[in-house]
Amino acid sequence: MRKLRKKLTSLFYPNRCFICDKILPHPETVCESCKAKLIDYERISGAVCDVCGLKLQECNCRPGRLYEKAVFPLLFEDDVRASLHRFKFRGRLDKAAPFADAMLRALEARDVLAETEILTFIPMSLKAQRRRGYNQAQILCEELHKRTGLPMLPLLYKHGKNTAQHDAPNYLLRTGNTIGIYEPTPEYVNEIEGKRILLVDDILTSGATLNEAAKTLLIFGADQVYVAAAAATPKRKKRKSSSTN
Ligand SMILES: [Zn+2]
Ligand SMILES: [Zn+2]
Repeated sequence: MRKLRKKLTSLFYPNRCFICDKILPHPETVCESCKAKLIDYERISGAVCDVCGLKLQECNCRPGRLYEKAVFPLLFEDDVRASLHRFKFRGRLDKAAPFADAMLRALEARDVLAETEILTFIPMSLKAQRRRGYNQAQILCEELHKRTGLPMLPLLYKHGKNTAQHDAPNYLLRTGNTIGIYEPTPEYVNEIEGKRILLVDDILTSGATLNEAAKTLLIFGADQVYVAAAAATPKRKKRKSSSTN
C-alpha cells in the first residue's frame, strides 16, 4: 500500500526543478538559478585534476584512489544535498531522470562514455535494499543504460554485516585475499576481465566506497574503472579562525 501510494505520488507530482524543488512549467527540469550549479566542464580552464576534472584548488580527490576518473555534474551542498536526500530516502524517484541527464552531459564532456564498455552500480546489502525498497545507485545506472544503450550488469554484491568469511564463494578464496565489502556477483564474475567499467553511485564523498568497489573489479581483471555520481562532496573551505597559513 505504501509503495502504491509512493508510485501515485510520483506520477501526479507537479513539474519541479529537480534541484530546488520549485514548481516549473513543463517540460523544464531545472530553474535558472540551479542551472548555474551544474558544472560546465567545457569552461573550466587552467590546471585541472585528471581524475575529477575540477580546478586543482577545488579538487577534493583523496590519494590512493584506484579509479581512473570520477565524473559528477554537481557538488553535494545546499539544495543539491536536499534534493539527493529526497531521492535517496523519501522515494522521490522522479529525480532519477534529471540527475541521470546531468550525469550523462558530464560523462560526455569528460570523454568517459566513449571509453565505457559496461555500466554497473554500487550495490546495497539485500537487507538494506529490502528496507528502502530500491537502490538509488541502481536506478541512476538504469537511467544511464536507457540513455546510452551500454550494457548494464550487476557485477557486484555487498555482504550483510554478519556474513561469515567461510561462506565466501570459492573463486574469492582462490585470489587468496581481500574478501572486502564488495564481491563479484557469481553469475557475472567472468564479465569483468579486460573490460572498461563505469561504476555508478549517487554521491561521491570520500571516494572510499567507490574505491572499495573499484578494487574488487580490478582484482578480477577489469581493464579500467571509471566512476560516476550525481554529486560529489566539495573541498571544505578553510575557516579563517582555524587557518594556520
Ligand atoms: Zn531550482
Ligand atoms: Zn580531483
